Amino acid sequence: MIKATNLTKRYGDFTAVHDISFTARPGSVTGFLGPNGAGKSTAMRMMTGLTPPTSGEALVLGRRYRELPNPGRHVGVMLDASAQHPGRTGREVLTLAARTIGVGPTAVAHGLATVGLTDKEAGRRVRNYSLGMRQRLGLAAALIGDPEVLILDEPANGLDPQGIHWMRGLLRGFADRGGTVLLSSHLLSEVQIVADELVIIGNGRIVAEGTVEELLQQQ
Ligand code: ADP
Ligand code: ADP
Repeated sequence: MIKATNLTKRYGDFTAVHDISFTARPGSVTGFLGPNGAGKSTAMRMMTGLTPPTSGEALVLGRRYRELPNPGRHVGVMLDASAQHPGRTGREVLTLAARTIGVGPTAVAHGLATVGLTDKEAGRRVRNYSLGMRQRLGLAAALIGDPEVLILDEPANGLDPQGIHWMRGLLRGFADRGGTVLLSSHLLSEVQIVADELVIIGNGRIVAEGTVEELLQQQ
C-alpha cells in the first residue's frame, strides 16, 4: 500500500507537486501518468525518502520510507535507470543491491533470469547496455529483495513493444500475488495495458483518477 496525503513540494516560488492525495492498493497496478515535468519523479522521490515533502505525507506500508526497517526488503525502487552505474557490470550492480539489503547470491542469479538478461550480458558494463537492458537491470535490482511494493519511474522507457508486453506480464504477476505497483509514464499507451488504476497528474496537480475503464470512457 502506498498512500500520499496532501503531498506538496516547493522549490523556492515554484511548486513541483501541489497537494496530491491518492492510494495505490495491494493487488493492483497503479499508473502514474502525466507529461514530462508534471511532477511524477518529484512525487516518487518523496515516497522513497530521497527528498522531504514541503508539506503533506507519503506512507509506504503505513510508514515513511526511511522509517521502514530494511526498506529494500519491502519496497523495490527504480528511479531513472538510465543514469546508474555506467562503469559496473550488470552482475556487479545486482550483487551490490543484494548485499545492501542482505540477500544472497542466489537472488542475483534469480534476478537476472527473471528479467531475461543472459550470463554474457550480465558480464558487460552498463555503459554498453541499451536503454531497454538498463530498464531490465533496474527492474531486477528493484525485485531482488522480494518486495511487497514496487515504485518504478518510467520503467517502459526504451523498451520495445515486446519488452513492454514482457513487463506487463511481470508486473501483473507481481500484483496478482498481492503486491502493490506504482509506475509512472508520460505515455497513456504504455500504462493503459499494464495498469488497473490511473492517477493522472499535470502541473503538479492530480487532474483525474480512477480505473482505466472509467477514465477511457470519459474521453
Ligand atoms: P516528471 O517526473 O513528471 O517529468 P519532475 O518531478 O521531474 O517531473 O519535475 C517537475 C517539475 O519540478 C519540473 O518543472 C522540474 O523542472 C521541477 N524540479 C524538479 N526537481 C527540481 C529541483 N531540484 N529544483 C527545482 N525544480 C525542480
Ligand atoms: P533526515 O533529516 O532525517 O534525513 P529527511 O530529509 O528524510 O530527514 O526529511 C526531512 C523532513 O521531512 C523531516 O522533518 C521528516 O520528518 C520529513 N519527512 C521525510 N519523509 C517524509 C514523508 N514521507 N512524509 C512526511 N514527512 C516526511
